[in-house]
Amino acid sequence: MEFYFQRSYRGPVKAILLDWAGTTMDYGCYAPAVVFIEVYKRKGVPITIDEARAPMGAHKKVHIRKISQLDSVRERWQAKYNCPPNEEDVDAMFKDFVPLQLACLADYSDLIPGTLEAVAAFRARGLKIGSTTGYTREMMDILLSEANKRGYAPDATVCAADVPAGRPAPFMCLKNMIDLQIYPPEAIIKVDDTLPGIEEGLNAGMWTIGLAKTGNEIGLNEQEIKQLDPGVYQSKIERAYTRMAQCGAHFVVDGIWNIEPLLDEINARLARGERP
Ligand SMILES: [Mg+2]
Repeated sequence: MEFYFQRSYRGPVKAILLDWAGTTMDYGCYAPAVVFIEVYKRKGVPITIDEARAPMGAHKKVHIRKISQLDSVRERWQAKYNCPPNEEDVDAMFKDFVPLQLACLADYSDLIPGTLEAVAAFRARGLKIGSTTGYTREMMDILLSEANKRGYAPDATVCAADVPAGRPAPFMCLKNMIDLQIYPPEAIIKVDDTLPGIEEGLNAGMWTIGLAKTGNEIGLNEQEIKQLDPGVYQSKIERAYTRMAQCGAHFVVDGIWNIEPLLDEINARLARGERP
């Protein structure tokens, strides 16, 4: 055959998949960070907030393991126990983690300003709202009920343990496609405040939007950001934009309130036959 034909999707965006902490609620993504610090403190190996935040986005047990693999943490663990942390230590810390996280989740469940307005705008355009998270189902039950009380109820929520692997694997995004009954992947946008969450969307073949200001990259809540010296804020936000862009995000914006205008641009690119 001399000619081959390539099919391309020219329709509009049909769904948007939103992360939870740092994207729609918990400005600064504090809830997991404070509990990671506590479980390491209980082991007698205190960690810094930067160490606690480094693997953010992963399944929470994977996250504890990744902290234990940081050179700085391994050295301090070795100094205390005369051996590096192993899988049994990770299991023990995850066991400590779960009840501590469950106990404080509701305290960090306020919606990020602009979330309700953004979701209403997405719905007005006929989009389905999905979500993915590194939290366990037990944790999500609490957050879903808190979100509901505040007026936010996505159409689908997939946790890392619902699929064979969490971020950066694409499976939570793909399960959203099934749950929402939406295809193809190029008609879907994945939004996240972490690098593994952006990779997750890219691996699923979706458009990705990174949120630089409200999540783990700056790691401060709205009030704390307002109090930052302008020069310090500038260097933090520039670093976040660069890291997310270099990870491959199609767009990087401050927060969820900046997303709606991007939908027109993505729709125009799809209409021209562009793919994410
Ligand atoms: Mg997040």
